[in-house]
Amino acid sequence: MAEASGPRPPEAITEGRLAGVHRWWLQVLDATALTPSVRRLRLTSPDLHLLAPEPGQDLMFAVPVDPDDRVQATPINQPGTTNRRYTIRGYLPVGDQPHVVVDVVLHGGGPGARWASSVSPGDVVEAVGPRGKVVPADAASHLFVADAAGAPAMLTMLEAVVDHAPGRVVLVLDHDDERQPTTAPADRVEVLVGADDERVAAALRSALNPGVHAYLAGERRQVAGWKRILTEAGVPADALSPKAYWSRGDANAGHGEPAPDR
Ligand SMILES: Cc1cc2nc3c(=O)[nH]c(=O)nc-3n(C[C@H](O)[C@H](O)[C@H](O)COP(=O)(O)OP(=O)(O)OC[C@H]3O[C@@H](n4cnc5c(N)ncnc54)[C@H](O)[C@@H]3O)c2cc1C
Repeated sequence: MAEASGPRPPEAITEGRLAGVHRWWLQVLDATALTPSVRRLRLTSPDLHLLAPEPGQDLMFAVPVDPDDRVQATPINQPGTTNRRYTIRGYLPVGDQPHVVVDVVLHGGGPGARWASSVSPGDVVEAVGPRGKVVPADAASHLFVADAAGAPAMLTMLEAVVDHAPGRVVLVLDHDDERQPTTAPADRVEVLVGADDERVAAALRSALNPGVHAYLAGERRQVAGWKRILTEAGVPADALSPKAYWSRGDANAGHGEPAPDR
């Protein structure tokens, strides 16, 4: 287990596939219940202005694999750790308490959920980012579809486009306590709780506008199902951005995404 250490300035990564982003040592400011099943973490670092994320991008955190391990300064890509990615839901780079916000769904009991439910103020965690391709926001209209884990990304992207383009979020949730707050107007967000396939398909079809670009994030098979519905409704492949965030019944792989070919 790594020795405990405080936050220190980020280091630029200059080589490999992560070149261009920074390695961070983020200190937890606080961790609170956003909803009964979603924990909100606020984390700080010196030089946080260097993060400069696009809406919808994420940080990849090194979290301990062993439930008994301490989270303190767990290093990225070292034995005993795995990577889990969480969307940057809030970003305040300057001021008295510069910080980033991530909202973590606590279901499943895997390393990410365990880490998020056990961190406390003062803990330091290693992270890399910002990560993630964000589709250019120049579409005529936007449709964002997600489950609880994808909601932070989709709500962040909706909030970014809401003032200058038609856009709508459809959240497909298992439980009412997975609803997450947004500053977007209520008529731009549709929440389906425990909906069957037919109801989800009807909601997606009725949310389509000409020139739409659809972003889909959540459980692997659900994302595939949403993609099928939208394809059958005539949305072209190049207007679809699907992303599997997790896979029901399977732990994510060490790179923080569902393993391929499952
Ligand atoms: C780009 C990207 C951004 C992401 N952003 C967020 C985010 O902002 N917030 C967030 O909460 N997650 C987000 N995720 C998903 C997150 O990275 C983890 O996959 C998730 O937290 C589960 O990790 P874990 O270690 O707890 O469980 P794993 O080790 O992956 O899985 C352990 C078990 O838990 C089950 N499980 C995992 N997640 C859930 C769930 N949501 N509901 C029910 N069962 C589950 C699995 O099926 C498995 O059986 C993102 C993923 C990606 C790729």
